[in-house]
Amino acid sequence: MQFITIGVCFCGRRGTLVDGRCGFCDDMLAAAPAPRPMTVSRAIDLLLAELVAEDIAAPLSARFTLATVCADLCRLANEEIPAAVAEALDGPAHALVYRERYQEPA
Ligand SMILES: [Zn+2]
Repeated sequence: MQFITIGVCFCGRRGTLVDGRCGFCDDMLAAAPAPRPMTVSRAIDLLLAELVAEDIAAPLSARFTLATVCADLCRLANEEIPAAVAEALDGPAHALVYRERYQEPA
């Protein structure tokens, strides 16, 4: 229930008050709308844009492990990576391959 009165708000404005606040103060105190969760399709769009930016040719037909895709989608959605996915990323299937830089024989 709201109380509508005529008077002076604590900010000094005179006029119609809702629960003792003018419209300006009421707007300032109103809670910001809750952020909408990111949709799966939006996260995939962002991931595709990243892959294209990294010069991955035809990313939609490229092969990635589910763990890497899942981790990227979680990162883009600001969500925590599930423990099983993090564990899989630490596994040997996802170990980085280091190669020595090729040098022409002297
Ligand atoms: Zn006010």
